[in-house]
Formats: sequence, C-alpha cells, structure tokens
Amino acid sequence: MTTNLTIDELHQLYASGGAKPSEITAAVLARIEQSTERLNAFITINKDAALKQAEVADANIKDAITTQPLAGIPVAVKDNMCTTGLRTTCGSKILGNFLPPYTATAVAKLEAAGAILVGKTNLDEFAMGSSNENSAFGPVRNPINEDYVPGGSSGGSAVAVAADLSSVSLGSDTGGSIRQPASFCGVVGLKPTYGRVSRYGLVAFASSLDQIGPFGKNVRDVARTLSVIAGRDRYDATSANEPVPNFLNALTGDIQGLRVGVPPECFGEGLDAEVKTAVEAAIKKLEERGAEIVEVALPHSKYVVAVYYLIATAEASSNLARFDGVRYGYRSETAKTLAEMYQHTRDEAFGAEVKRRIMLGTFALSSGYYDAYYEKAQRVRTMLCNDFAEAFQKCDVIATPTAPTPAFKLGEKVNDPLAMYLDDIFTVTINLVGVPAISVPCGASSAGLPIGLQLIGNHFDEARLLNAAYAYEA
Ligand code: GLN
Repeated sequence: MTTNLTIDELHQLYASGGAKPSEITAAVLARIEQSTERLNAFITINKDAALKQAEVADANIKDAITTQPLAGIPVAVKDNMCTTGLRTTCGSKILGNFLPPYTATAVAKLEAAGAILVGKTNLDEFAMGSSNENSAFGPVRNPINEDYVPGGSSGGSAVAVAADLSSVSLGSDTGGSIRQPASFCGVVGLKPTYGRVSRYGLVAFASSLDQIGPFGKNVRDVARTLSVIAGRDRYDATSANEPVPNFLNALTGDIQGLRVGVPPECFGEGLDAEVKTAVEAAIKKLEERGAEIVEVALPHSKYVVAVYYLIATAEASSNLARFDGVRYGYRSETAKTLAEMYQHTRDEAFGAEVKRRIMLGTFALSSGYYDAYYEKAQRVRTMLCNDFAEAFQKCDVIATPTAPTPAFKLGEKVNDPLAMYLDDIFTVTINLVGVPAISVPCGASSAGLPIGLQLIGNHFDEARLLNAAYAYEA
C-alpha cells in the first residue's frame, strides 16, 4: 500500500474505493517502524489509537471526504504540542514521561477534521536548535542523505513528510523551525502570521515569537491544513479574531502584476553560491509568470540574529522556570533540600543548549543589564517592523533564501553555537515582525541537497502568499 500520496491523491483513492483509511494507516505505521533506526523522526508512535481511529473512519470514508477536509489523512505532530494521554516530551528528559491532561487546539482541530494522528515527532529540546541534534531522544537524520541534518527544530515533522511517514505534519516556528527544516528536506513549510493559529497546548519557548504551522508535500496540502488549524481560540488571548478563508480557493496560480520585493541585504556575503543561484532562478520564474520584481530595503537585517537570540532567550528563561520538579515531569532523587531539588532537577534533566539559553536569557533580563540588552533588542525589533511596513508599501510578497546553506553534516556545527545561530539569519526576522512566510523547494545543490525559496507575506495575507508559492511550484 502506498504511503507517498498528497491529500488530494489520497482522497481520490478513497473515493474510488482503491484503499481504506485503515490500510493506508497500517502502511504508514509500518513504514514509520521500519524507518525508526535510520531516521529517528518519531519519539512516540500512536499505533493502537491510530489503527482504531482509522477503522472507524473506514465505515463512511466516501461521505467523510466531502465534509471533512482531512478525512482519513495520516498526520504527524511535533512533540511539543500536548495530546491528552499521549506522551509529550518536548525532546527533553524533563518531560520524558509527561502525559498531558488536555490536547492543543491545533491538534484537536486536525482530529475534528478527520485526520489520523500517527505519532509525535522528534525535535530539538524545547524547540531550541537548527539541526535536531539537541534532542534528548537522539538526532534525526535527513532522508535525502543520512549523513546530513534535517534542520531544526521541527526536523522530525519535516522528515515525516519528506520520507512518506505522514501526508502532512505540524511543526512550531519560533525563529525558523518550520521553514528551515522544510528547506533542508525538500518539502513545503509555512509559518503563519502571529496569532493566526492558537498556541493553546503548544509548550511555550518564546511566547511572542512561537507559532504553529503545517508541513506538506505541496502548497495545496499546506493551504488546506492551514484552513483547518487557523482561527480565534478562546483559550489563547493572542489568537486573532480574523476571518479564516478556505485557503485552497486562493490557489489560482495567477500572479499577474504581483509585486515581489527582493532585499539585496539577503543576497550578500555568507550566502552559499548554489543557494544564491537557485533562489535567483526561482525569482526569475516568478517574473516569467507575470510577477513584477522590485527592490526593497531591509536596512536593519544585520542585527536580526543578535536581537532574536536576546528576545528568544529572555522569554525562554521565563517560560522554562516552571520546570522545577514540583508540578510535573522529572524530579531529581539526589536532593536533600528544596533548593537542591530545584537545582538538581534542572541540572540533571535539561540539555546543554537549553541551559545555555536559560543563562543567556536570565542575564539579559537581570536588573543591571535589562536596558542594555533586552530593552535595546525590543527597540530594534520595532525598527524591523517599520522596515517591513515600508517594504510592503512597495511590494506584496518578499523573496529571500530560506537558509544561507543547504543541509550541513551531523556534528558539523554542534560545538559551535554561534555558527548554528547564524544559520537562522533569514528566518528569525519573520518571527520578530510577526508576518507569515513559507519555504518552497527551489532546486538542489550539486551534492543533491534541497534548497528552499522563502516567500514572506504581510500580516494575515496568507492567501496571497500561498498563491505566490503555488504559482512558483506549478
Ligand atoms: N533555530 C532557532 C533557534 O534555535 C529557531 C528555533 C525555532 O524556531 N523553534 O532558536
């Protein structure tokens, strides 16, 4: 039984009676199990529940596909989204056995739309990383070449789609964690506008930057999944009360007159030559399809990595204070006093990168340094917002590379955090500004590694953004 189908293809197969959800689900689960040793994309496989759910779906699947957008579709979810009674680890020892008492809104919406949750995917611990090497459950490998990283932090969710272990998947993106692994693995990945998708049940990393979004094999699958998960949620005060269109209807492929902004700042030093060539060729393609290319300026681009790593670590240090061994998760057994219990728990159960960020963030927020670091970073964040507001006067979408290089080798950057952080140069800005952005495959390097084109839209303009990506993909 085939596992490599898009949603449209699977629904056609169900409509024709060529397969049933239980057969597809069984095949997907078998493929996940076979791939585990090589790719390590899943932390928890939801085998029994998925099979049971699929069997129930078998009964009326032909009707269901007309009413439920994800009827009978196998989906995988990053393991930092809570799922009732299904282990949610965040890739951390500290939540190694955590069974949430509730389900994240985005995941509940997938299930209500008929999706079958096949498992929880591997990630960098607490979504901190760009290579998936920071997981307490071991690194994920890139299915295109297993010596290479899949990107991070949502590496498992990207690999799930790239290696046909699910049709679509969810990731979270705080500074690029959907788009960069999508680009490294050759799939489509979207970070929606901040507030477009509820964060309820997403374990917080940096609350002003975090956003859940979909991975898919093509833009249509991503558009459909976004339509399902988007919308106001009374459990998340930052979710926006914006109407949610059916994003599939926006995919006309017509981009006649669309103004595509190209910022020269994103094509300078440090950009891999093959990435540059591929992304420039992709922009040419958009022009051939009727788009108008205009130059836009993003003058504060040189500060983005510094600003992001101050704000993200500051928020993380506060969010991660709750993991103290008292309420849930791991508790040290070596402590003799309360203070020791906090210290030993956090020392024994957080990994090196998480500790580094807690220390950086705590320092940036400390009273003597708050003005010099955190407040200054917030000021530059406002300037970045102004840069984008100005750019969007001149254009409808902005085109950049998703990442400065294709995937790198496992172990290559893991001991050099700064080199790893610099890999996020084109993605973090988007979260600081809160706009949506998508990564679509735009070719491969001479070593055969995928390259991603990043298209950026204005706030809540996902319909136009998705159509631009769709036109390029076509
Ligand atoms: N790579 C970035 C970081 O390490 C982004 C992570 C993310 O988007 N979750 O913070």
